[in-house]
Formats: sequence, C-alpha cells, structure tokens
Amino acid sequence: MSTIADNILQVSSRIHAATRAANRAENSVRLLAVSKTKPAQDLREAYAAGLHDFGENYLQEALGKQVELADLPLIWHFIGPIQSNKTRAIAEHFDWVHSVDRLKIAQRLSEQRPADLPPLNICIQVNVSGEASKSGCSPADLPALANAICALPRLKLRGLMAIPEPTEDRAAQDAAFATVQSLQASLNLPLDTLSMGMSHDLESAIAQGATWVRIGTALFGARDYGQS
Ligand SMILES: *Cc1c(COP(=O)(O)O)cnc(C)c1O
Repeated sequence: MSTIADNILQVSSRIHAATRAANRAENSVRLLAVSKTKPAQDLREAYAAGLHDFGENYLQEALGKQVELADLPLIWHFIGPIQSNKTRAIAEHFDWVHSVDRLKIAQRLSEQRPADLPPLNICIQVNVSGEASKSGCSPADLPALANAICALPRLKLRGLMAIPEPTEDRAAQDAAFATVQSLQASLNLPLDTLSMGMSHDLESAIAQGATWVRIGTALFGARDYGQS
C-alpha cells in the first residue's frame, strides 16, 4: 500500500473516532485533501485510494494540476487568500471557495461565474484569533457580509471557514472552534457547512461541529516550500 493510501486510512480513522466521540452521524464530516505544493501524482494516488475533493491555495499551481488530472472527476476547492485579479479563474475552475472574506471578492466571483456551471459554493473565512490573524472577516462584519453574499445570484453561501491560531492546547482549540459554530448559528441562515480543523486539531474541530476538515500534512507529509 502507498504511504498516501496508508495515511488516508489513519486520518479516516481519526475522523471516525472523533465523530463517534461527539455523537455525530457517521458521514457528517468530510475529508478535504489539501494538496498545495504536492505534485499531481500525489493527488492521483489519493484519488485511487478514494478521495475526490482537493483543496489548493495557489491559483497557478492549482490550474496546472487541473490540466494534468483532467481525466479524473475531481472536485476542486480554493482555500487560499484571494486577490481581485484572480477571481475570474477561480470562478471558472473551482467548485468551492472557502476563503471569501470581503464583499468585493464575492461580487466579482458572482459576476464571473460562468452561466453553464452551477452556483459557486462559498464559505466565509472568519477571523476568530483577533490580531494574531491577518485574514478573515471580523465577527462584527460577518452578518452584513453573509447577507450580502446570499443576495448574489451566482454564489451559494454554504457556511463559515476558520483557521484559528495554532495551539496544542485542546481547551483553546475547543474555544476557538466553538466561537465559529456560534457565529454561524447566530446568522440564522440555512447553512450546512463548517470548514474547520487541520492535521493537528481535527478532533477538536469535529467536536465543535466541523463538516469539512482540511488535511494536508497528515495525508501527504510535510511541505517543502523551497522547491515550489
Ligand atoms: C495548508 C492548509 C491546510 C492544511 O494544513 P495541515 O496542517 O497541513 O493539515 C488547511 N487549510 C488551509 C487554509 C491551508 O492553507
């Protein structure tokens, strides 16, 4: 068995254990494979081992892999910071965007989403770590942004995404993810998605209601940014 296939089994068993511990339904948490900096061959192996959803942070790198993997029915998620000049390609080449944090970006994605594709699935990235994080909408700005996105015709707002400040302290992890869950609840919108939890904190995220966990290192190994 390949290392990646073996890693998928290990991550899946962590997800199942956390889901069971939280008394949540068996298939309520989905695994998003974060493949930034990794070669197309790694995604091909992960697909062969049963994964379909891949998350990428860098547009040019992602577009290259999409061409290389065009023979596979993959679902592509954009999860990195978004500059305005990248919105057209993102609207054309992705199924989900997890990292929308301002209205201007959402408006451009809606205008640029091709008419022959379904509405683009959107998560608003919310900043629950205050000054420790540069990206994400502030909790104070969240309700207005969420309502404005709901009014955009070519987007479908699915929920929230967060990247809390990294910590090994389980209580601090729980507190941050619980904040995301309660912000989502306070919106009073029909949302079904909480994109939160990475390799080191997926158990806490699942306990607090995550529906997508975004996992890179635990599936594909450490990233080497020097080569990319
Ligand atoms: C890189 C990245 C991940 C994956 O992180 P790991 O710690 O490698 O699991 C998840 N989400 C986002 C937004 C990322 O940029």
